[in-house]
Amino acid sequence: MEIKKFILKKPYLIAGPCSAESKEQLLAIAKSVEGTADVFRAGIWKPRTKPNSFEGIGKKALEWMKVVKQESSLKVATEVATAKHVELCLKSGIDMLWIGARTTVNPFYVQEIAEALKGVDIPIFVKNPIHPELGLWMGAFERLDKVGIKQLAAIHRGFYSYEKSVFRNDPKWELPIKLRKEVRDLPIICDASHIAGKATLIEDIAQTAMDINLDGLMIETHNNPHLALSDAEQQITPESLKNIMQNLVLRDTKLRDKQFKEQLLNFRNQIDTFDKNIINLLNNRKGVVEQIANFKHENRLTIFQIERWFEILNTRKENAKFLALDEQMVEEIFTLIHKYSILTQTNIMRK
Ligand code: PEP
Ligand code: MN
Repeated sequence: MEIKKFILKKPYLIAGPCSAESKEQLLAIAKSVEGTADVFRAGIWKPRTKPNSFEGIGKKALEWMKVVKQESSLKVATEVATAKHVELCLKSGIDMLWIGARTTVNPFYVQEIAEALKGVDIPIFVKNPIHPELGLWMGAFERLDKVGIKQLAAIHRGFYSYEKSVFRNDPKWELPIKLRKEVRDLPIICDASHIAGKATLIEDIAQTAMDINLDGLMIETHNNPHLALSDAEQQITPESLKNIMQNLVLRDTKLRDKQFKEQLLNFRNQIDTFDKNIINLLNNRKGVVEQIANFKHENRLTIFQIERWFEILNTRKENAKFLALDEQMVEEIFTLIHKYSILTQTNIMRK
């Protein structure tokens, strides 16, 4: 994949409201992020999870983006989801476009957008698909590459997850790192707002993005976040944006440092997976313990049988010894597991 470098500064900053709401709003925000941001963002067509939410101003807002472009030093960018959007944006002289997370998941849409961009030489950003699949993200770049787009960049906006988390979208930092390994020259921008879901987490996420050497940030910025018509909780004021950017620590990006950070993250991700597996196994084990309890109850057996407990302890310690694991540790862990297994059974018997 041939990539033409268009991001010449680090961190490259894309800032502006989630949605364009009025010409005055856009101009006011643009004026206050001028000097901090490189690109002004505003969503015009908003993909909303539920109908009856604010779905964006539509093409009328393209006129307002033109005014921002004329009256500031900022480049302007917006999200496109269809070939028609591309056509309208190109006519209005929008400098850069991004494909949203809900669009990257659909190869038909990505292909349609790619074809509408044939022969066009402007930067195109692709957000990761909603779910953590590197193939689809890569596929979108390949489709754009095939029609000759050279100014390409990725936006990491986190991934939908069923699990409860402090983040709106799980960052899964290992994915942008994998993407970087697949396409070395592809710049990666971190959309800290959509990962965070709330303003207070943005700074931390932005710092992590810098620590793993991503190229820039997208931060939703609004002159009055509480009154924003979409994503109100994850937008910050231009003043906070300035503070965050000033506080960012840009560490040594020498190869050794970068490799160290990536490796550390890789190790931590492995530990996270193991721990998740341990919890799942404990839960599965508990399911069987409950079945045993019912079985013992029906057959009038006592819960605690000393021979069985010794057998558990000895076999687990033998397993540990075989693997050169600390036997004492294994004994302590199984004593605890056994304690709770007795508790589970007693609770069931009492019912
Ligand atoms: C947005 O940038 O406002 C947006 C809708 O983002 P995403 O596609 O990441 O959900
Ligand atoms: Mn948004």
